[in-house]
Amino acid sequence: MRFRTIRRVRPVRVLLRALTCLAAIGAGAVLARWTEGGRLAAAAPAIRRDAPAPAPARPSRGSVRREPLARSRGSLSLNGDDGRVEHASSPASTRDPSEAKNSWDPTGARFAGGRVITGHGTQRLVLFTFDDGPDLRYTPALLEELDAAGIRAVFFVTASRLEGPTPWARRHRALVREIAARGHLVGSHTLDHVQLPLVSSAEVERQLDRAEALIAETVGARPWLFRPPGGARSPRTDALVEARGYTTVLWNAGAADARPTDARAVLETWTRVMARLERDRPGSSAIVLLHDTYPWTVEAFPRMVDYLRTRNCALLDTGEPLYDIVDDPSAFFDPRRAADEPGRLAREAALPPAQHEARQAVLRARARAWCEARASAWLEAGRASPVRE
Ligand SMILES: [Zn+2]
Repeated sequence: MRFRTIRRVRPVRVLLRALTCLAAIGAGAVLARWTEGGRLAAAAPAIRRDAPAPAPARPSRGSVRREPLARSRGSLSLNGDDGRVEHASSPASTRDPSEAKNSWDPTGARFAGGRVITGHGTQRLVLFTFDDGPDLRYTPALLEELDAAGIRAVFFVTASRLEGPTPWARRHRALVREIAARGHLVGSHTLDHVQLPLVSSAEVERQLDRAEALIAETVGARPWLFRPPGGARSPRTDALVEARGYTTVLWNAGAADARPTDARAVLETWTRVMARLERDRPGSSAIVLLHDTYPWTVEAFPRMVDYLRTRNCALLDTGEPLYDIVDDPSAFFDPRRAADEPGRLAREAALPPAQHEARQAVLRARARAWCEARASAWLEAGRASPVRE
């Protein structure tokens, strides 16, 4: 199926959605800052008064199939076509060809039970994540962009969109299957996008468990990656999330795309964030937070990839490690230990040195070709229109 058209959205809806998201993002930004500084307790003192709930041992859930869904399963089909595409290789992305042949794991069972991932790391690894979808208007176009760039991402879906017998919900479920079929990971972003520290433990459990069941019904496997709405967490909610075997994935490179804006502003904000990250933590990794629910995000995404490729041209010249767009959270994953308190942060992300160097070698070769091609294209363009004003 093809979704190439990005329709204009009605201003009132944009405004309503933006207000909801602004509230979430505002709180998230505050919490994320504290998270970065490792002083979580200061983030929301009123919320922190709750004693952390005891974490019952619940590594896997009996009610939901954990078995990965076979790629040949009929339920993955979308309009009679399973939607698989060959992933184009990207100059900025290096994929181990054997990786695709690994078992079908659309919800990241291999990343279950990890410490809280922040995005920080000691190598220039970049993981793209998309929250709040799926969105019938924008997610399909984004999937096309991701395929065109040869990049896989993590989609944290708001599961209420998958609920019920309506054609609307059916189409959203089909879209989540399409996301998985194209090789992206599907994670949970709760049922209704509630900020978990603001609700009772029973409601936290309902938000997690209902989302889990809906995703499991949709793609045939329960989710193992979790993104708290707004980044809002507390030891109490962390305990409940982790008791279910989830790995929480935060971010350290947002783009302020969840408010009325345009692609240029999204790109500018994000490049500023990336530059700041480079200043604060030279050579650091980044988990990028975007929302597949806005047209400007879909439009900005290929420009962001282009930005990384262009940065790589400069890094190539200085002999520094290049930006490496990764397809999954492997490098960020840090399994929880038995003695860990809820919410313990993962170690800084890093690939094993040999693997990192092997990927960098491939990246350098691709970057050289890409940067040279671009330079000649510019020269060509210059020659073609010498009198351009
Ligand atoms: Zn969200």
